[in-house]
Amino acid sequence: MKKIYLKRGKEESLQRFHPWVFSGAISYFDQEPEEGEVVEVYTNNKEFIATGHYQIGSIMVRVLSFQQEPIDQFFYEKRLTTAYDVRKCIGVVGSPSNNTYRLVHGEGDNLPGLVIDIYGKTAVMQAHSVGMHVDRTTIAEALKAVMGTTIENIFYKSETTLPFKADLGQENGFLFGGSSEDIAIENGLKFHVDWLKGQKTGFFVDQRENRSLLEQYAKGRNVLNMFCYTGGFSFYAMRGGAKLVHSVDSSQKAIDLTNANVALNYPNDPRHKAFAEDAFKFLDNMSTPYDLIILDPPAFAKHKDALRNALKGYSRLNQKALEKIQPGGILFTFSCSQVVTKDNFRTAIFTAAAQAKRNVRILHQLHQPADHPINIFHPEGEYLKGLVVYVE
Ligand code: SAH
Repeated sequence: MKKIYLKRGKEESLQRFHPWVFSGAISYFDQEPEEGEVVEVYTNNKEFIATGHYQIGSIMVRVLSFQQEPIDQFFYEKRLTTAYDVRKCIGVVGSPSNNTYRLVHGEGDNLPGLVIDIYGKTAVMQAHSVGMHVDRTTIAEALKAVMGTTIENIFYKSETTLPFKADLGQENGFLFGGSSEDIAIENGLKFHVDWLKGQKTGFFVDQRENRSLLEQYAKGRNVLNMFCYTGGFSFYAMRGGAKLVHSVDSSQKAIDLTNANVALNYPNDPRHKAFAEDAFKFLDNMSTPYDLIILDPPAFAKHKDALRNALKGYSRLNQKALEKIQPGGILFTFSCSQVVTKDNFRTAIFTAAAQAKRNVRILHQLHQPADHPINIFHPEGEYLKGLVVYVE
């Protein structure tokens, strides 16, 4: 294996098991590695410290192991077995009413750059690093070995998640099996999952617990599900006894998916309507007296530099909803921007409430579910945050 030597003192974060080596920490290589190659990292004193995937960019090594060990099928089997055990422990595996969960959450499962979501008998695998792309067939073999007959298909979906510059010629496609059965079941509700063209791995698995909480608040309410994508929150609201449910997304494809999911769960239910419209415009023009609103926008800040503008965006969006929501209304509001901290987000909602001049009580502070675990040595893995507020 090729070796990378760090500058003096730059091993500190690795000694605390943080899994990234930044380009500025590197002193020299014994031989220039290929992108995606497994390398060993040494301190300036030539002591071994980590093994990981090399990639050109600001994060140059993503650590797979703090031991000197081969990164082969056996290694991936060990990691995947632990990840599977964790999901069994959480209780998301093997329930007839829920066949949808995240099996691998990158650094949270000590596999930086890899995401695997399970939809029934299909695993959707996504590489966010060149190294995971290079290792994809080994990982697929390991996954088959660990999951056995519970998995019949492995779909690889990394067209949009890999660095463009690496020019890997990546394509989406099946690495194993090839079923066109695309229905996921989440807490008894059915969803078409578009793993071919959909966002992320085709579905937002991370809102499962928050959707369940929403169900408990829905009875008798007029619900607005803003940024609905596949309509996830809408069907929980309908099951919870909502009076009406309006789903809004600026993408016509998302609205088509939502309507297809209505047909699966509540065919011809007159309570549901879907609108392909921009959120800000819809909130400005709406006249329906909503008393339960969900705001689950895409990440407004993808990088630290965008933080200030993102916070303004969250404030403006939430202000509009808070101005219009009925007295006694409930707002479920989220941010999935990793760079926006819990405190940042709460301040944005504080600003929105002050500007809307509404009395707001925080009822719940929400976060990502247990199948999206956070590696304690990698706090950057915390990304989803939400508040449920009561608006007087
Ligand atoms: N709440 C969804 C996930 C939302 S993802 C769930 O539970 O699955 C964010 C969605 O916001 C995407 O579907 C995207 O099409 C939509 N979107 C992005 N910008 C928008 C805008 N300005 N107005 C309305 N929808 C928007």
